[in-house]
Amino acid sequence: MSTSATVPLLEVRQIQKFFPIKTGLFSRVTGHVHAVDGVSFSIEKGETLALVGESGCGKSTVGRSILRLFDLTSGEVILDGTRIDNISASALRPLRKRIQVIFQDPFSSLNPRMRVHDIIAEPIRNFGLESDEAKIKERVAYLLDKVRLSKDAGERWPHEFSGGQRQRICIARALAAEPELIICDEAVSALDVSVKAQIVNLLQDLQKELGLALLFISHDLAIVEHMTHRVAVMYLGRIVELATRTELFSDPKHPYTSALLSAVPVPDPEKKTIRIVLQGDVPSPVKRPSGCHFHTRCPEAIDICKTLEPKQTILPSGRMVACHLREV
Ligand code: SF4
Repeated sequence: MSTSATVPLLEVRQIQKFFPIKTGLFSRVTGHVHAVDGVSFSIEKGETLALVGESGCGKSTVGRSILRLFDLTSGEVILDGTRIDNISASALRPLRKRIQVIFQDPFSSLNPRMRVHDIIAEPIRNFGLESDEAKIKERVAYLLDKVRLSKDAGERWPHEFSGGQRQRICIARALAAEPELIICDEAVSALDVSVKAQIVNLLQDLQKELGLALLFISHDLAIVEHMTHRVAVMYLGRIVELATRTELFSDPKHPYTSALLSAVPVPDPEKKTIRIVLQGDVPSPVKRPSGCHFHTRCPEAIDICKTLEPKQTILPSGRMVACHLREV
């Protein structure tokens, strides 16, 4: 999906992650959860790619696969030209600092027994970026300032902060490793609406200033609309559409994207949108529908959709869509 002739910062090629379902006394494998099935995309340096879809579509599993929190069933993850999904833990260690993560829940992702200074200093020490304590102190103060927290925040404990402030601490900790890519895994989902906007603005400012790339995983298209360069829409473990933000929001090609967009609130009361209500729940990733996995809920489904899986079609503009109605 890369449009650049240079090596992308991150490339994910046809990754699959199936979790076995074990039952009985002998833990016999009786099925698989098909969490991610053939996902490919790339992220350029300094780019934001949003990965969106309903809960359970596999987007967080993609993020965790990139972080090597578990092994892939198949496929490749390539960081700046180096394959990282199959290298040893010791070979991975120097590369780890280049990808950091911010999780959804700032309450559980900070150690309550560490002061904020030590939380932020930890990656600086662990990755060997600095050993002089005076310089570490300076660096922590700089990072606190970057996330718009006061200098004295370093002497306080995580429980003394609000949810939004804790997420700022998580961002400062991620920045401390001097990463090139940050995976934001539903990083603003647990926050109030106004706080959400502040954290999104902060991430955007930091991205511009530091040239960071972001993989922004979210179930909320309204959040990604103003902050991403491209959007990949996932449904039941697969990317069904990938396009620039402008293309996707102005002219969605996949019926699932259209349905998600129709649920995004429009601030202009003059601009009327017709809400597309999808019938039923997302089917189980254990027993996915045949053909196009979306056919059980798709308002535009035709006969072939029940039996034949649609190809990923690259349209003349370079965007991708997987739908029989868009095949060229
Ligand atoms: Fe709907 Fe068929 Fe397109 Fe799937 S392939 S999104 S079921 S029209």
